[in-house]
Amino acid sequence: MLDNLTQRLSRVVKTMRGEARLTEANTQDMLREVRMALLEADVSLPVVRDFVAKVKERALGQDVAGSLNPGQALVGVVHKELTALMGGDLGEEASELSLATQPPAVILMAGLQGAGKTTTTGKLAKWLSEGAHTQGGRKTGKKKVLVVSADVYRPAAIEQLRTVAEQVKVDFLPTDTSQKPEQIATAALDHAKRHHYDVLIVDTAGRLGIDDAMMQEISALHGLLKPIETLFVVDAMQGQDAVNVARAFADALPLTGVVLTKLDGDARGGAALSVRHVTGKPLKFVGVSEKLDGLEPFHPERMAQRVLG
Ligand code: GDP
Repeated sequence: MLDNLTQRLSRVVKTMRGEARLTEANTQDMLREVRMALLEADVSLPVVRDFVAKVKERALGQDVAGSLNPGQALVGVVHKELTALMGGDLGEEASELSLATQPPAVILMAGLQGAGKTTTTGKLAKWLSEGAHTQGGRKTGKKKVLVVSADVYRPAAIEQLRTVAEQVKVDFLPTDTSQKPEQIATAALDHAKRHHYDVLIVDTAGRLGIDDAMMQEISALHGLLKPIETLFVVDAMQGQDAVNVARAFADALPLTGVVLTKLDGDARGGAALSVRHVTGKPLKFVGVSEKLDGLEPFHPERMAQRVLG
């Protein structure tokens, strides 16, 4: 069983009664527990180090004489910093999709094979076509959505997107695996313009690991499509590996946001913190089910709570 952060901290909190200030000495045990708990929640080591250093800096010297317990004051600092690092410092609108452009607004989906790109494409298509999208906290109405797959390597992936599109009742543009991804993208953009779609979502090929050919292909697609949103889709269950994958995608593409999938698994959500740290981009959505309504906007505060346990 994972020992969660809250439990770990409450044990230390008990030993800290009666202290008037948070000091190097009396926060040491506590910070060690924070470090252990974050590592157990799958946050990567460099991120944990940065985080603990930041909490320490904020906490030291804080006058906690008025607090019920200085340990609790430190827990408060941890919670606040965790929320900020998850993107709470960016404000609510950071997690919204930006579609404010001359239609069609293009959304490019990036990520490894199996991360959940096709499923998320379907979920987003449903989200947008049913009018759940908000801008500045306000709903912006139902969008006319077209989805297309630029995965010419796996005909099954194209079929999967067709099925998903049927299920969520949005238009699917068939593609031919003899075409090049760039041709597919150009044709899809042209089709979306001519038929007045509000949004075009382009699902792309993923590989099992990061490879140069994949990165070159998706950056070429990015250059052609000039998407307003380039979303990096990553599996929360991937844990620490998510960091390397995120870094490779963030280096190759100007990402605008992240979708963290499979949070319904037993992932503690530590990947969210690592991916946010590495990409510097806001998490926009989380996938919470394999069903096509299993998409939720990302809430930094809730994710901090999940990591805290
Ligand atoms: P792609 O290769 O990146 O397009 O990945 P897929 O969309 O095919 O997803 C891979 C697998 O993960 C499928 O079995 C999906 O049903 C599943 N999946 C995707 N998102 C979620 C999610 O949020 N929760 C769960 N439980 N499963 C998901």
